[in-house]
Amino acid sequence: MQCFVHHEVAAVGICRTCGKGICPACAREIDKGIVCSEACAQFVTDNQAIVDRAKRVYSIGVKPKIPLGAWFFGTMGVVMLGIAALFLWTDPHGWPVAAYPGAFGLLLVVFAVFVWRRYRAVGLNL
Ligand SMILES: [Zn+2]
Ligand SMILES: [Zn+2]
Repeated sequence: MQCFVHHEVAAVGICRTCGKGICPACAREIDKGIVCSEACAQFVTDNQAIVDRAKRVYSIGVKPKIPLGAWFFGTMGVVMLGIAALFLWTDPHGWPVAAYPGAFGLLLVVFAVFVWRRYRAVGLNL
């Protein structure tokens, strides 16, 4: 392929935007590739900005701060602790009954923290 502007010169690449052949004299380097003109460079920049914004909006490639498993067990644990507290509140002497959801809730919360910590540790190794 020859350069779109300089027909006697062999093209070294293709414009990322319009697909024309470009020689070393015409090529403009941009972030990821080469383009033939300022207008084509601007087009790539604009497109990239749109893609970046879309990624931010939909959180693509962004890990959630707390994994779903930790959320799930943590919420369950807090609910269980709440039930235990409700038992004690309605009947201050009913602690043997409240001990079951209380202990279970505590276990779930500890498990949630464990899942979260493990998730963070794995995330650091990536
Ligand atoms: Zn172009
Ligand atoms: Zn050229």
